[in-house]
Amino acid sequence: MDHISFTKQVNQNFDRAAALTDHPSGLLDQIKQVNGVLHVTFPIKRDNGSIEVIHGWRAEHSHHKLPTKGGIRFAPVVNEDEVIALASLMTYKCAIVNVPFGGAKGGIKIDAGKYSVGELERITRRFTFELVKKNFIGPSLDVPAPDFGTGPREMAWIADTYNALAPEDIDSLGCVTAKPVPQGGIQGRAEATGRGGFFALREACSVAEDMKALGLGPGLEGKRVVIQGLGNVGYHAAKFLEEEGGAVIIGATEYEGAILCERGLEVEQLMQFRRETGSILDYPGASNLDHRDQGLELDCDILVPAALENAITMKNASRIRAKIIAEGANGPTSSEASAYLHKKGVLVLPDAFANSGGVTVSYFEWLKNLSHVRFGRMEKRFEEKSNRHILMAVEKATGNKFSAEELTALAKGPEEKDLVNSGLEETMIRAYHAIREIQKRHGDHEVDLRTASFIDAIDKIAVCYGYLGIFP
Ligand code: NAD
Repeated sequence: MDHISFTKQVNQNFDRAAALTDHPSGLLDQIKQVNGVLHVTFPIKRDNGSIEVIHGWRAEHSHHKLPTKGGIRFAPVVNEDEVIALASLMTYKCAIVNVPFGGAKGGIKIDAGKYSVGELERITRRFTFELVKKNFIGPSLDVPAPDFGTGPREMAWIADTYNALAPEDIDSLGCVTAKPVPQGGIQGRAEATGRGGFFALREACSVAEDMKALGLGPGLEGKRVVIQGLGNVGYHAAKFLEEEGGAVIIGATEYEGAILCERGLEVEQLMQFRRETGSILDYPGASNLDHRDQGLELDCDILVPAALENAITMKNASRIRAKIIAEGANGPTSSEASAYLHKKGVLVLPDAFANSGGVTVSYFEWLKNLSHVRFGRMEKRFEEKSNRHILMAVEKATGNKFSAEELTALAKGPEEKDLVNSGLEETMIRAYHAIREIQKRHGDHEVDLRTASFIDAIDKIAVCYGYLGIFP
């Protein structure tokens, strides 16, 4: 992996877009700067009795809207630069998908695999305590979520710790999202980032004129896909692309290596194989590649990098053969490589759009926590009854009878998951066309979708600084 400052990368992308807006330079600077960074160190007792000092960060990039929002990652490479970069990406992401939050991000510098569950719990709870002490968490202040190396389990520990420290806060469950559903989570959040990536790709591939320019037919059906990283984002994106989009997952890369199988990998079976053997290598019917990063260079229609930043840099950009890249991870393509790929004619769906499904559904979860009611609870039965009345009227008017199964299917009122997925689908479709429209306005040879998405974000955030007397 190249050692390129991630914050510098994000800011280069910002500057490229900012130059195409007419906002005052001071305002652009304010939008770009990180508003607050917390670095904490604390001791934890390991299971063997030794004491270890843990480093953790939380960056709140932009307070133009509160609360701020963004994941917490556990990884050995976490550092302040990375956390600030990821927090700033969150600010732009939230603006692109019209989620009313500023951006934030947190990280703890640990290799999670090397700690017991008990140790991870002590680390997570103590970090939460530090965030509470410094006012860096709360339903109206800053709301974490999972990221690389964390999931619903860690979110449940965070919620429980916050709850214990703020018992008078009636909205305390809204202090963190992607919690397990019985602990205040929402149906559909676990798979939301991957599902959002699927919607993003489906929408991009539905534009026949754009696909023609890439030498591809419209639609996802039959498109050959390679996934880098089969974690939360990569696995779910692969699953929906295969099951709902009819795409063929021909390649996958994981920590231990990369595999190729032209006839399609069958995602669920591959995941089962990895659970049993601890590796994707030697998966029946697939061939192992010499090195995991070769997976990124496979000949395919769609590449989904869904591991960590800087997977594609100027070191390997010329060897990338995918026609479309959907950035599941944050910052997988360096700024320079991204500009190079755009010139080469590759369609890059940028991270701040392509992986925004997670924060979108986190927003729905936060709304659910603040309203203290499950989506669909009030209207499900009412809608079912109304639908049945309409169907009965149709039967009367036409003389045709619906079967019992047809009646049940047609009358069905929405469950929480139906509403969540529908809200996510609407969000991704709308956001895609908004940034594509901006790209077209600026000329798609000059401006790539990443720059267009930054222009969109900058314009929306600038409006929030109207109190400075600057009205765009
Ligand atoms: P995860 O920990 O669930 O999965 C990451 C996977 O990538 C793991 O299986 C890991 O073994 C694999 N991996 C690590 N290095 C690799 C490499 N060099 N090559 C191939 N595979 C490798 O993490 P996640 O939540 O899926 O997050 C992945 C990326 O997506 C991160 O950049 C994160 O910031 C971004 N993201 C996550 C969410 C979310 O909701 N979880 C939302 C938006 C963006």
